[in-house]
Amino acid sequence: MDCLFCKIINGEIPSTKVYEDDMILAFRDIDPQAPEHVIIIPKNHISSANEINTENSKYISHIFEKIPYIAAMLNIDEHGYRIVNNCGKNGGQTVPHMHFHLMGGRGFAWPAG
Ligand code: AMP
Ligand code: ZN
Repeated sequence: MDCLFCKIINGEIPSTKVYEDDMILAFRDIDPQAPEHVIIIPKNHISSANEINTENSKYISHIFEKIPYIAAMLNIDEHGYRIVNNCGKNGGQTVPHMHFHLMGGRGFAWPAG
């Protein structure tokens, strides 16, 4: 499949991995928007949040089970962080393999622009 993040999973495209197990992969964003900015992806191809269903939702819950561990690794657990999913065109999604941005090391405004 011609998917950038699937290619990162299978090693065709290099990445700076921060966490990996049999279900998920976390790697540093190539264009970080915060001092710590990691992309967390399921290892199966889910194109967007719109495609989450009862068959694949275990990948999503696994991501959230591991977020506290990854945040602690990045040392952003104490001060907090932002988790973002962009879905589709209006959501600003540019890579059609569902992912969460985990960002920390600075404060974020809310509501976002
Ligand atoms: P989104 O706009 O939510 O689809 O986010 C896609 C993210 O992937 C952006 O923050 C990009 O900087 C990031 N990105 C694109 N290509 C790569 C890559 N080869 N390695 C790491 N991050 C990437
Ligand atoms: Zn993919």
